[in-house]
Amino acid sequence: TTFRVTAGPVTLDSGPAALVCFEDTTHVARSGQIRRDFVANVSHELRTPLTALIGFIETLKGPARNDPVGQARFLDVMEQEAHRMNRLVADLLSLSRVEAEERVRPTDRLDLAALLRDTVHGVAPLAAEAGSEIVTELPEGRVSVPGDADQLRQVFTNLVENAIKYSGAGARITVSLSAPEFQPRLRASGVVASVRDTGPGIDPIHIPRLTERFYRVDDHRSREMGGTGLGLAIVKHIVNRHRGRMRIESEIGHGMCVTLLLPSS
Ligand code: ADP
Repeated sequence: TTFRVTAGPVTLDSGPAALVCFEDTTHVARSGQIRRDFVANVSHELRTPLTALIGFIETLKGPARNDPVGQARFLDVMEQEAHRMNRLVADLLSLSRVEAEERVRPTDRLDLAALLRDTVHGVAPLAAEAGSEIVTELPEGRVSVPGDADQLRQVFTNLVENAIKYSGAGARITVSLSAPEFQPRLRASGVVASVRDTGPGIDPIHIPRLTERFYRVDDHRSREMGGTGLGLAIVKHIVNRHRGRMRIESEIGHGMCVTLLLPSS
């Protein structure tokens, strides 16, 4: 705990006195620390691909100058590293945008069933490439919720892409939505959407930290799959902006299920 102590003379009816003020500044110190950690993390994440790029450029200018086969290989790796930096910068921009807007509640209404259908359609090529199957359990009619379409599409894209990335070939990913008319119990609270996979899952001990920026359960696997470590942090901010709730459930060997409760009014 940190305190700021200020003191000064005051005059009371009974005569001169001193006023001492103790101010609890723990939250200020903590947010300063979080900001410094974040800047250090971003610098580290950017430096890794940059160092690789510089190394390959030096190799191309020197030892590999007359080696067309090596050059082609190095250029491929350089392209991957540049894409990694691009993804990181795109995710950082998304994060700062959603953070800035977090207090502004979206007012436009959208059809969440259609948005989920669209999202699944968009990630189908990635699922096909990874050898996983996506099934949907969506209501027939419109499911109207107040929301920012681009942001909610990003939420479900991130969740389904994670399921594809971490589940591997042969996995089954289920995207489901229950509207209030199908869940009378929830009529007042909202709609329930979930993304569930049959992948390897994670130790539940990690669950409370998954939405922290740059928190990864398996650092190597996340990087190998092109992850930035920011996906679930972005999801959490968008869900907060929509006054929604998010629950993550997982167990080793039993996949992962992310459930969102979004207000319908
Ligand atoms: P990343 O860019 O690393 O995927 P995220 O914030 O999206 O970052 O996810 C954080 C971590 O949570 C991932 O690194 C991974 O370890 C774990 N994770 C997320 N989704 C799944 C999933 N469906 N199955 C297993 N692990 C997951």
